[in-house]
Amino acid sequence: MSVDVQPSHIDQIKQTNVGLIYRLIDQHGPISRIALSKKAQLAPASITKITRELIDAHLVKETEFPDLGFRGRPAIGLKVESERWQFLCIRINKSTITIALRELKDNLVVEEEIPFLMTQSQLFLNCLADKMDDFFFRHQSVIERLTAISIIINAPVDPINGIIRNLTYCSNMQDIPLKEFLHHRTGLPIFLQHSITAWTIAEFLYGAGKNCQNLIQLVIDDNVAAGVITAGQILHAGQHGVVEIGHTQIDPEGEPCYCGNIGCLETVVSIKNILAKTRYLAERCLDTLTYAIVSNKSLTIDSLCQSVIDGDSLAIEIIHDTGEHIGRIMALMVNIFNPEKILIGSPLNGVKHILYPAMQQQIAQRSLPGYSQQIDIVATQFDNTGTLPAAALIKQSLYNGELLIALMQG
Ligand SMILES: [Zn+2]
Repeated sequence: MSVDVQPSHIDQIKQTNVGLIYRLIDQHGPISRIALSKKAQLAPASITKITRELIDAHLVKETEFPDLGFRGRPAIGLKVESERWQFLCIRINKSTITIALRELKDNLVVEEEIPFLMTQSQLFLNCLADKMDDFFFRHQSVIERLTAISIIINAPVDPINGIIRNLTYCSNMQDIPLKEFLHHRTGLPIFLQHSITAWTIAEFLYGAGKNCQNLIQLVIDDNVAAGVITAGQILHAGQHGVVEIGHTQIDPEGEPCYCGNIGCLETVVSIKNILAKTRYLAERCLDTLTYAIVSNKSLTIDSLCQSVIDGDSLAIEIIHDTGEHIGRIMALMVNIFNPEKILIGSPLNGVKHILYPAMQQQIAQRSLPGYSQQIDIVATQFDNTGTLPAAALIKQSLYNGELLIALMQG
């Protein structure tokens, strides 16, 4: 390495290499140092040095494994040491929070959903801290080495500075300094991310997007948003966090959207709007199963999906149209990101046999054939609940070295 390299660059290289070695040990362990050196494309001396530091910090340990090495002796491999390393994972919802204690090897120790409703920013932080203290008190017998706190929320966030930008559903609270507040109270590294971005990271690390370097995850629920992984990295990780595909115009003559524009994709395909459209159309198709559901006031997204499964022509048409609308916008995304997979996170996955082909056909018709032909549209493995996406943020910060360096410095 030349002498004029800036110290901060050296730190960055060290962090990247430590993260890479840790990830390879986590994914392939037990693994020998020689195999590690080949996979990481780093010199054996660097491997020896980095693994020594990880062993000293109790993040990695040596183990014998059955692969017979020199003269038939068991080989010595490295694997991740996960005992007693724990993380707190928190999901903040509109009126509840879910708090979980998890271990490094992704095991869930305990998880609880607790009522949580606050209307002022300072009260919000104090109330969150009280709920965490109560949780610690109730579960003190199982808490060991707590090393970081990861929080996800369905709201715009500044992940770098750990600020919740605004909570429209909570008296429009602005700029809540969550990271600073919790770090001051606990001394621990704090991670904050939009729940959809974290969900995409979880699918990429453990779910339907595993081993896929380029993917788009589309979430169709009350809101329509997306997460993008490109060349193994999440897009916009350091910014507000979601790809605002839901606010792309699909119908210039359409309904006004709360964002200020007209006819956004969300005003057409969000679950609320699909149900509104269903009510409108059912009143005009009185001989359908869907009309029967609407007229006895049992229309929900699940009953609409059941109507599709039962073969009702109106319900099928509504879902098919929804797929076409989504496909038109996704075609543009496909041309930009050339993904291997499109993951769909939605209650509409129950009728994917109608939804996905309608999307696929629009994508094929409207994007570069070389790109669109190889795309798989698949359902996400997880849904937008629970604390696994928060755990994925911890895993990501180990793999990029950021949290490892903090833990190695004690
Ligand atoms: Zn909009």
